[in-house]
Amino acid sequence: MRTIVDLRSDTITRPTPEMRRAMAEAEVGDDVYDDDPTVNRLQEVSATLLGKEAALFVPSGTMSNSIAIKTHTKSGDEILLDGEAHSMLYEAGLPAVVAAVLTRQFRANKGIPDPQDIRSQIHVESLHNPGTALLVLENTHNRSGGVVIPLGVHKELWDIAQEHGLKVHIDGARLFNAVVASGISVREYAACADTVTFCLSKGLGCPVGSVLCMLGGGMRQAGILAAAGLYALEHNIERLADDHANAKRLAAGIADAHGVHIVDNAPPTNMIYFDTTALGSLFVAEMAKRGVIASTTAPRRIRLVTHLDVDAEDIEKTISVVQEVGVLLTQ
Ligand SMILES: *Cc1c(COP(=O)(O)O)cnc(C)c1O
Repeated sequence: MRTIVDLRSDTITRPTPEMRRAMAEAEVGDDVYDDDPTVNRLQEVSATLLGKEAALFVPSGTMSNSIAIKTHTKSGDEILLDGEAHSMLYEAGLPAVVAAVLTRQFRANKGIPDPQDIRSQIHVESLHNPGTALLVLENTHNRSGGVVIPLGVHKELWDIAQEHGLKVHIDGARLFNAVVASGISVREYAACADTVTFCLSKGLGCPVGSVLCMLGGGMRQAGILAAAGLYALEHNIERLADDHANAKRLAAGIADAHGVHIVDNAPPTNMIYFDTTALGSLFVAEMAKRGVIASTTAPRRIRLVTHLDVDAEDIEKTISVVQEVGVLLTQ
């Protein structure tokens, strides 16, 4: 058994020996001259997989979202996004800094937007009003616990966007978790958007990278990194189902823990949020002493994320640690 179970995020995965081998053996060239065959292949494979014209390998999801928002808008435009969206909360205000847009925030119901509410918030540009240019959607939805936005909602929103001349961008940092959880192909989700980004560096287990399917900085011999991405697209998508099963087992195992209230007893993908009667910082400190690392997202809210580097045995260990700490702190 590993001594430490790290459930802070699915970004903490380390490349497996097989992925490192693919990286070491990658053919490379200067990507700024379009000469890196591995980068080119990753971009082609990604575009084909999503049914888009083109794809761009970029260093991060944040950069990917910023490029998409900048590309679809002009300064002073309004974009519509969830008040709890990653682009709203965790991207250093880049929509304002990079694209100079106004962010109009909608309220989603447990991560799922209401199409009629979105329709009512679209503005037409006039002498006084900024126009709404872009709708940003996040699937799976991070802050609501890895919720999958149903394909039907994407379709309705896509139709509304077409009616009003809005572009649609999907922040699909964990879109492949939605694919595996719903059984719906990534192409079908991607068909409901002008641009889609997905992270290679999360559940897919790569050390670096995101792909934006539709500008960016050149990375020269980036094939070493792209090789990890190709390896992940070939080997690490189906196995996301293991992460989802581990999250369900973990939720079931801690549901009756002392002073613990799970936000969603049946986690839809790979995230579990739970509230504690004790202070979250104390709770995670006690967990860490027992070899399980978790993060807090609010004073009394804790997040656990399952991923490639966590196995069934680690889950059982985590269950007993949460049970023990619950008793310790809430007796
Ligand atoms: C992680 C994440 C991003 C950004 O990815 P980075 O590579 O960390 O910049 C964007 N959106 C969501 C929903 C994420 O979880």
